[in-house]
Amino acid sequence: MRIAVLGAGFGGLELTTLLSEELGDGHEVVLIDQGEGFIFGFSKLDVMFGRALPHSVVHPYADLVKPGVRFVRTSVRSIDPVAKRVGTDAGDFEADILVVALGADLHPDATPGLLEGGHEFYTVPGAFALRDVLAGFPGGRVIVAVTSTPFKCPPAPSETALLLHDHLTRRGVRDASEIALVMPMGVPIPPSPAASKALLAAFEERGISWHPERLVTGLDPERNVALLSDGDEMPYDLFLGVPVHRAPAVVEESGLTVDGWVPVNPLTLETSFPDVYAVGDVTSVGTPKAGVFAEGQAAIVAHAIIARARGAAPTSEYDGRGMCYLEFGHDQVARVDVTFLSGAAPVGDLEGPSSALAADKVAFGATRVQRWFGREWEHDSAG
Ligand SMILES: Cc1cc2nc3c(=O)[nH]c(=O)nc-3n(C[C@H](O)[C@H](O)[C@H](O)COP(=O)(O)OP(=O)(O)OC[C@H]3O[C@@H](n4cnc5c(N)ncnc54)[C@H](O)[C@@H]3O)c2cc1C
Repeated sequence: MRIAVLGAGFGGLELTTLLSEELGDGHEVVLIDQGEGFIFGFSKLDVMFGRALPHSVVHPYADLVKPGVRFVRTSVRSIDPVAKRVGTDAGDFEADILVVALGADLHPDATPGLLEGGHEFYTVPGAFALRDVLAGFPGGRVIVAVTSTPFKCPPAPSETALLLHDHLTRRGVRDASEIALVMPMGVPIPPSPAASKALLAAFEERGISWHPERLVTGLDPERNVALLSDGDEMPYDLFLGVPVHRAPAVVEESGLTVDGWVPVNPLTLETSFPDVYAVGDVTSVGTPKAGVFAEGQAAIVAHAIIARARGAAPTSEYDGRGMCYLEFGHDQVARVDVTFLSGAAPVGDLEGPSSALAADKVAFGATRVQRWFGREWEHDSAG
C-alpha cells in the first residue's frame, strides 16, 4: 500500500511512528511537511517567557529515521481527494490511502491593527519575537486576548496570563503593570468546572482581570485601544493576541472542508471521500484543537491502516479522550482529563497544580521526542 500523510505535526508524527513500528518497511509511507522541524505548542510559551532557547525547542525533521517512512520536505499545493493525488513543489504523489494532518493556519493579518499595534503568540515567529519584547517591557497595561473562534489549545491564553504575572514579578515590574485576559468563553475551561474554578481563583489571587464572553476584534494602534466584540474599548501598552485560525488554503481548495474545517466520521476519522482520512486541528471532529487529541485520532487511523495491511477489520473507535497540562505559574502544572464525543456533555477532572505534574509535563514532551525522533530532548534554557 502507498500511504501519504500530509503534515508532520502531532498527528502526522504519531501516525507514521505507529505505522513504522507495526508495518516496518513492508509498505510505502510518505510523510510530507514544509517545515524545518516540529515544535510543541507549549514550547512557544517556554521561549517567549525565557524558559527555553529557540534552537532547543525545534526538533529537526532531518533527524527522522523510521523504517518504511520517507520524509519529504516540501509544500503541498493541491490535494485531489478523489484520485488521492497530491501536488507538491517536489512533484506529485499518488496514494492508496491519504491522511490529511495539515493543522490550522494562523492569520494575524485578519485582525485589523494586530500587526501594526500588537503581538501574537501563536505563530513561531510571533512567540519567539516576544522573548525580547517581554524581556524589555518596562511595565504597563497588558491585554492577553482571543480574536476569533475556534482556536488551538483553549487553556493557552489563561496559561499565558499566569506565566506573564510570574515573568513581570521576576523582573520587578509587576506593580507597574495590569494584566487583563479577554476570552470568548464564560469560564476558562468549560468542560472542567474544577479547572475553571482553580484558574479563576489564581487570576483573582494575582490581580489578573478576567473578561469573559468577549473577543478582541481589532486594535486601534493610534489610540492604543483594543476594540471588543461587545462594543467596549480597552486601553493597552502591550497586546498579546491569539490570531484568527483557518484550515490551510490548500485543504479548502480541495473540497474537503465544510464551514471551514474537514468533517470526519467521529469514530473512524474518515472523510466523505473513500480512503481519505483527516486528523487533528484541520478537522471539525468535535474535540478541542490540541495536540493530545490529534495524537489520539492518529492512533485510530494507524490502527485502521495496520488492520487493512494485515487483511483484518479495524476494531478500535475514537473515544474523544484527551489529557491536557495546564501551566499555573509558580513552576506548578495541573492536569485535566476530558472526554468529548461520548454523547453526553464533556466532563474534565482536575489534578494539581503541583511541581510533580510540572515534571510529568517535561516527561510528556521527552517521550514524544524519543518516540518520534529517536533521541533525547536536550533542554537548553541558558541565556
Ligand atoms: C501557544 C500554544 C500552546 C499549546 N499548548 C498545547 C498543549 O499544552 N497541549 C496540547 O495538546 N496542544 C497544545 N497546543 C496545540 C497544538 O500545538 C496543536 O493543536 C497541535 O500541534 C495540532 O496537531 P496537528 O497534527 O493537527 O497539526 P500541527 O501540529 O499544526 O501540524 C501541521 C503540520 O502541517 C504542516 N503544513 C501545513 N500546511 C502545509 C502545506 N501546505 N504543505 C506542507 N506542510 C504543511 C505544518 O508545517 C505543520 O508541521 C498549543 C498551541 C499553541 C499555539
